[in-house]
Amino acid sequence: MSIRIDSHKCIGCGKCREVCPGSLLLATDSGQTDISEPKDCWGCTSCLKECNYNAIQYYLGADMGGRGSTLYTRQEGQLMHWVVTAPNGSEKTITIDTKQANAY
Ligand code: SF4
Ligand code: SF4
Repeated sequence: MSIRIDSHKCIGCGKCREVCPGSLLLATDSGQTDISEPKDCWGCTSCLKECNYNAIQYYLGADMGGRGSTLYTRQEGQLMHWVVTAPNGSEKTITIDTKQANAY
């Protein structure tokens, strides 16, 4: 389980670096972010939820039924959209109202 950061989309805001509990996300010389030890990522999704630029892709492994699918998030007010992209490019979106998240 790991993430990949797209350097073409990362604007270097640094928000993801502030929340990684393992301090795995580091600033590159160009001010963008990269992951230092992908194998140490335990998939908490904290960085994913901070990135509003679709720059972080989270790999859904076979153990989660992902089979090569990736996940990113998109925030819209209090709504958090979790977007799963299948290897064939099709997308499915699950939307959570963050104000109601504790209701489940
Ligand atoms: S939150 Fe997204 S845009 Fe900001 S530094 Fe991290 S990967 Fe780059
Ligand atoms: S998913 Fe969690 S552990 Fe992995 S890089 Fe992002 S914040 Fe760090």
